[in-house]
Amino acid sequence: MEECRRLEEVLERIEMACSRAGRDPKAVRLLGASKTVPSERIRGFYECGLKTFGENRVQEFLKKYEELSDLPIDWHFIGRLQTNKVKYLMGKVSLIHSLDRESLADEIEKRAKKAGLVQEVLIEVNVGGEETKGGVEPEDLRALLEYALLKENLRVLGLMTIPPYLEDPEEVRPFFAKLRELRDKIEEEFGLELPHLSMGMSHDFEVAIEEGATIVRVGTLLFGERS
Ligand SMILES: *Cc1c(COP(=O)(O)O)cnc(C)c1O
Repeated sequence: MEECRRLEEVLERIEMACSRAGRDPKAVRLLGASKTVPSERIRGFYECGLKTFGENRVQEFLKKYEELSDLPIDWHFIGRLQTNKVKYLMGKVSLIHSLDRESLADEIEKRAKKAGLVQEVLIEVNVGGEETKGGVEPEDLRALLEYALLKENLRVLGLMTIPPYLEDPEEVRPFFAKLRELRDKIEEEFGLELPHLSMGMSHDFEVAIEEGATIVRVGTLLFGERS
């Protein structure tokens, strides 16, 4: 199947990047960034062995969640999240990658409590300082983390970033390194563990892995160009 071939290629490249970096390939999870990809195509990739998918829009996610409800897919939410949509995600996504403000932490806490669960999240950091990108500014990260740590039904597992798009992936490396360094510093300062770094997309995931990514979010390379 074409899906299986594409998946194998990406997995091989992940393994090679891990071996260059002296990392265990099991420590890097491939997430299929499946926005605009129809459910049946997601099903095909699932059958080839891809178990984790991430969606950006709540409406689109809910439709696919229903259509694929017979599969135990590990769904993540990776897009900008409006506060009034949080309630629709509870119990359906294992990880929200895009916590970026206190009001969102408040809402996730409230909805998770109501649903009787603990929602795992990553804090999205705008390492490139781009106006158009989501995420908390690096200098505001500590305050948001402190705020989130007070929530009983919210568990922060790490950091996520969407760096600037630069033609040469080597030029993106410093942004990935910056996220890792921020994580390391904060772990020490706060005396806690933030095991996950969600970073790297189709054109730069290998560099991200060399810099410590534990989740790479790959769309185009798996599913083809989005229309
Ligand atoms: C679309 C998307 C990706 C995947 O991008 P590709 O370049 O297609 O691999 C990764 N992360 C987020 C947050 C996305 O929205």
